[in-house]
Amino acid sequence: LEEGLYCIGCGAKMQTTDKEEAGYLPMSALQKQLESEQLLCQRCFRLRHYNEIQPVSLTDDDFIRLLYQVSEDRALIVYVLDLFDFSGSTIPGLPRFVGADNPIFVVGNKVDLLPKSLKANKIKDWVRGQLKEQGIKPVDVALTSAAHPANLDAILASIDELRAGRDVYVVGTTNVGKSTLINQIIKSKTGVQELITTSRFPGTTLDQIAIPLDDGRSLIDTPGIIKAYQYAHQVADKDLKYVLPKNEIKARTYQLNPEQTIFIGGLARFDLLTGVSDQKTSATFYFENNLNLHRTKMVGADDFYEKHHGGLLAPVPKKEGAKLIGHEFKTKTTADLVFAGLGFITLPAGVTVKGYAPEGVAVFLRKAMI
Ligand code: GDP
Repeated sequence: LEEGLYCIGCGAKMQTTDKEEAGYLPMSALQKQLESEQLLCQRCFRLRHYNEIQPVSLTDDDFIRLLYQVSEDRALIVYVLDLFDFSGSTIPGLPRFVGADNPIFVVGNKVDLLPKSLKANKIKDWVRGQLKEQGIKPVDVALTSAAHPANLDAILASIDELRAGRDVYVVGTTNVGKSTLINQIIKSKTGVQELITTSRFPGTTLDQIAIPLDDGRSLIDTPGIIKAYQYAHQVADKDLKYVLPKNEIKARTYQLNPEQTIFIGGLARFDLLTGVSDQKTSATFYFENNLNLHRTKMVGADDFYEKHHGGLLAPVPKKEGAKLIGHEFKTKTTADLVFAGLGFITLPAGVTVKGYAPEGVAVFLRKAMI
């Protein structure tokens, strides 16, 4: 690509090689645009013409620099979290980056994946409790399904009230559904299409989508930070449906004896080492509904995985020869054993368990959500 071609929409340097990166445009479209002298990258083109935002990746350094810019502004922070992948969607140190004085409004997305019987207030309390451990005290918590937001108007009204005349920054990690939410906001603001502008943060490679608000302020979409240890980055594209579920997750409960193993597709493994006294242990699995759970004996589980890897136990991590690494825990209370970004298992107090996941994927215990 020739030196010095920039998108007129966002200012990113044009490139034709990497779809995921800023300034991308297919070569064929580039040639057409050069004739018309209107250079727009694919992201800005889609935004202008179809009201659609493409997620773009950003390195941690870029992201942190960008958040520092936010801390110098007086703004409302809309922090989008994925309720099904809560830990995977949190941004460590967020208050430090966005400024201690800037209020944070939490939008818990993908509530459609949780059991319908679960009360909204219970989820909100749980969210507040989890955030408190990270030193975050949100001014408010809303739950939504960005894909089909029944309460978008209420969320927009809350944003308008809480921002009190300030700018709004929407932050979130990749895959929380931030683009989906922003696209819904754009759609709900009829006629705003032509008004959407993009502005550039100095010192970052990425450009912001700014939606103008009534009083001359803006709602600014920040790029999603990539968390490399999310399961979404461990599986092939065709298997993403197992880690980004679309429907309500059905609880699957097993009564387990000690030294039994459950494989979660070929992506994770659960061992019950010791149960509650001499009874069977009830373990409830929350994973994408089409992800097969397979029970076997712990003693032969390693060989079983070798043998059925990619067959009976599928999908498997995309990295050739990836091993599942075990992490041992003992529950003190009812707790979730979380496989970050894949799902979780609700366990009673007093059991010893081992959770296995590919290297780099976080496995940990947390207060039970459900
Ligand atoms: P971003 O990376 O945060 O911008 O996330 P996207 O908007 O691209 O969404 C990531 C994935 O989550 C996509 O597969 C979406 O279809 C899915 N998604 C977004 N919102 C929802 C939701 O409310 N419910 C469910 N079940 N999936 C959602």
